[in-house]
Amino acid sequence: MNLALLFEEDFIGGDRVRLTGRRLAHLHSVIRVSTGDRIPVGRVDGDIGTAEVLHLTDTEAELRVSFHLPPPAALPLTLILAMPRPKMLRRVLQTCATLGVKDIWLINSYKVEKSFWQTPWLSEESLRENLTLGLEQARDTVMPRVHIRKLFKPFVEDELPALLAGKRALVAHPGTDTPCPTHLNQPTALCIGPEGGFTPYEVGKLEEAGCGAVHLGARILRVETAVPVLVSRLFDACL
Ligand code: SAH
Repeated sequence: MNLALLFEEDFIGGDRVRLTGRRLAHLHSVIRVSTGDRIPVGRVDGDIGTAEVLHLTDTEAELRVSFHLPPPAALPLTLILAMPRPKMLRRVLQTCATLGVKDIWLINSYKVEKSFWQTPWLSEESLRENLTLGLEQARDTVMPRVHIRKLFKPFVEDELPALLAGKRALVAHPGTDTPCPTHLNQPTALCIGPEGGFTPYEVGKLEEAGCGAVHLGARILRVETAVPVLVSRLFDACL
């Protein structure tokens, strides 16, 4: 937690905030704050700033907050991800939030196990929790939006073409001829397959919708590895 992300319900007055639960535990055990210390904070979907610890007990911390800086720039990326298995979903969501991805589409694909869609990690509350962990890591405040599409064909035929308008559109698929481009820094849509990969039919449908298939070399990466490798290859995060 390199920043405590604050939600409306955390505010107890204009510039006063009360923290309990996970964030309080982190203040005690990792940051080891004392009364009078300052910690980085951010207002969800707003600016980042600092908070002075006014009171600290085992059950709550009261902070005085002030905000003065915008959050880091978002990536111009729409990420379309075949629904990963639940354990991986959590990590991928956190990673996406940390990397600055703000638009995430979880879609079905032939090799996505049906049971994956039953996971409690897809609840609004769990999505927010994991995205918060990722944002706090990166000192970002802007909550990514997650869209869930449990049917591949209607999504690809009816929604995807409009989603790709004005964007460079790619599907990462091992064994294709074109290497993944670099230094794009422009609005981009990127599709990433499931553990078993997209089927040739699915790649064909994604290509029909306007996606160019690209590869990352001979090594097959896990989805959780493919996401940061693709993002850092496509965009210049240090600029
Ligand atoms: N067995 C599958 C691999 C799936 S890896 C297959 O051969 O297609 C999961 C997803 O990560 C892939 O669908 C792709 O989107 C991405 N990915 C992993 N390694 C890749 C690589 N070397 N090139 C392009 N995409 C890759």
